[in-house]
Amino acid sequence: MINRAHDQSPTSTPHVRQLDILVVGAGFAGMYMIYRARELGLRVLAVDRAGDVGGTWYWNRYPGARCDVTSLDYSYSFSEELQQEWRWSEKYATQPEILAYARHVADRFSLREMIEFNTSVTKAHYDEQAARWDITTDGKDRLVAQFLVLATGCLSAANIPEITGISTFGGRVLHTASWPHENVDVSDRRVGVIGTGSSGVQSIPILAEHASHMYVFQRTANYSLPAHNHPFDQNAVEEWKRNYRGYREIAKYSRNGIPMKRPEKSTFDVSDSERTATFEEAYDSGQFARLENTYNDIMTSKAANDLVSDFVRSNIMKKVSDPSVGRKLLPRMPFATKRVCLDTGYFETFNRGNVTLVDVKENPIREITYEGVVAGSNTYEIDDLVFATGFDAMTGAVLRMDIRGRGGQTLTEAWSGGPRTYLGLTTTGFPNCFFITGPGSPSVLSNMMVSIEQHVDWIADLVTFMESRQFASVDAHGKDQEAWVGHVASVARETLYPEADSWYLGANIPGKTRVFMPYVGGVGSYRRRCDEVVRQGYCGFVFDDELYSEPSDPDRIYGEADPANSDGEVQTRDGGEGMRSNG
Ligand code: NAP
Repeated sequence: MINRAHDQSPTSTPHVRQLDILVVGAGFAGMYMIYRARELGLRVLAVDRAGDVGGTWYWNRYPGARCDVTSLDYSYSFSEELQQEWRWSEKYATQPEILAYARHVADRFSLREMIEFNTSVTKAHYDEQAARWDITTDGKDRLVAQFLVLATGCLSAANIPEITGISTFGGRVLHTASWPHENVDVSDRRVGVIGTGSSGVQSIPILAEHASHMYVFQRTANYSLPAHNHPFDQNAVEEWKRNYRGYREIAKYSRNGIPMKRPEKSTFDVSDSERTATFEEAYDSGQFARLENTYNDIMTSKAANDLVSDFVRSNIMKKVSDPSVGRKLLPRMPFATKRVCLDTGYFETFNRGNVTLVDVKENPIREITYEGVVAGSNTYEIDDLVFATGFDAMTGAVLRMDIRGRGGQTLTEAWSGGPRTYLGLTTTGFPNCFFITGPGSPSVLSNMMVSIEQHVDWIADLVTFMESRQFASVDAHGKDQEAWVGHVASVARETLYPEADSWYLGANIPGKTRVFMPYVGGVGSYRRRCDEVVRQGYCGFVFDDELYSEPSDPDRIYGEADPANSDGEVQTRDGGEGMRSNG
C-alpha cells in the first residue's frame, strides 16, 4: 500500500472496498495498467461495462471490423514471451482475432481476477482530506482508491445523432459501436447505413453482398485506400520476429508508433514522374500512414497536400463505373485531415446494382419515419437502419461520468472550453487522476498500443516515485498545464489538420467546443518530453500541495516540435518496409 502514513480513508466495511488504484476500462489500456499495478504490489481493480475484456474490440463487432494498423504492430510489446508465442494470421487482424488475443492476454497473465465486468462507474469524487477518490458504480460496492486511472478509450462513447423520429422507426436499429453478439442476418433486407467513416467503409461492402438493397447515406466523402490485406506467411513472420524487441524500440521513437522511413524531401523537390511513382508505391502498400509520409510537407503545405489528395481522388474515380456517383465519392478536405480509411472493395461496392449512394449534404436527412429515412424530398424505405456515426471522441467517455475534483469542481466545468491536460496524462484540480492516451497526447494519431504502453509505464513510474517519497497526492500545476495546452495547440496550428471538420476537433458532435485534441508532435518526440519532465524532477507537478520542481529547461518540454518531421531520425532495418512486404 502506498503511503500508509497519509491514509485517512474510511474504515473498510463490507460495502466499501479500499484500493490503491481503480482502473476504469478493461481494454488494452486497462489490462496493461492492472498488470503493471499488480507487479508493483498494489491493490488494484478494473471495472468495465462490458462482459469481457477487449474494450473497443468487445463492442465493435460489425461485419468487416478489423484493425487498420498491422497486427504485428498492434499488439503488446511488454512481454517477449507473449509477442513470440502469439500468431497473427493476417496483415490486418479481424475483430474476432483481436478479441481472442485480448482474452488470451487476460488468461495468460491471470488478469480477470482483478476485473469486475458489467460494471460502470457513475461517480468519482475526490476527497481532499483523505487524498482519495470516492467512486460509485452501478454495482453494489462503494470503492475508495488513492489513484483513479481512466482507461476508457478514445473512441468508446458512441454517437447517435439526434434525428427526428428515430424512435418511430419500424425496423431494426443497429450501431456499429454496439453491434449485437449474435449473427445479424441482413439477407433479403433493405439496409440503410448512415455514415461513411472507417466503420461504414468497412461494413458497407459486406452488408451490401447480402442485402436486397442498400442505401448509403453519405454526408462527407472520405479518403480510403485499399488495405491489400493478406494472410501471413508464418515462416516469414517467424523470421521477422527474431528482431521483435529491436523493432519495438524503433516504434517507440517513431512518428506514429510504427517504424517508417523518414521523408527527407519536400513534395516539390522531385519531378512529377518521381512523385507519382512514390505516391503509387505508398498507395499500393496498403498503409495510409505511408502516403502521409511520402514527403515531409504533406501535412503542412496545402499545395503539397493538394497533389496527394488529387492522386487519391483520381484513383477513386477509376474504381467507380458511373462518373456521377464517383464524383460524389470524392473527398474535398485535405488528405489525412480526417482519419483516412483502409478498405477492401469499398468504392467498387457502388458499382453494384443493389447499392444507392444518397448524398445527404445535398439532401439532408429530415427525419426517420416508421418506413425509413426521409432525405430531401425522398423517402427511402428500409428494414435495417445502421448507424455508423462514430463517437464522441477522446472526451465523451470520461465526461459521461460525474467526476469531481478539488472543491467539487466537475470535469465538465473544467473542460468547458475544451480538454486541458498536462501531457495528456493529468488535469489540474483532479489530483491522482490519470488519463491513458488522453487529449493532449499522440493517442489517436498513433499506434494505440505503443501509446498505451508508454502512458501506463509512465504512470507506474510516477506511483513508484510517490511511494518512495511518501507522497499522498499529485496534481498538475496550472501554469505548466497551460504551457502544455499552448504547445499542443501551436503544433496543431502549423499543420493542415484543423482545416477539416473532424472528430479530432470534436466537430462531429453538435455543441462540442472545437479544439484539436490529439498531440501532433509525434510519438517519439512526445515520449522524450514526458521523460524530460521526469528527468527535471517531475517538473510541473505538485506533490502534497507543493510544487516539486519547476522546469529547468522548459524548451525541452514545450519547445518547438516539427509536426512534419518529428522523430524521423530512426529508420527501420530495411528502410521502412518491415514485415509489410512479407506474407
Ligand atoms: P466517424 O469516422 O466519425 O464517421 C462517422 C460518419 O457518420 C461520418 O461519415 C459522419 O459524417 C457520419 N455522420 C455522423 N452524424 C451524421 C448525421 N447526423 N447525418 C449523416 N451522417 C452523419 O466514425 P467511425 O467510422 O466509427 O470511425 C471513428 C474512428 O474509429 C475512425 O476514424 C478510426 O480512428 C476508428 N476506427 C478504426 C477502425 C479500424 O481500425 N479499422 C475501424 C473503425 C473505426 P461527417 O463526416 O460529415 O461528420
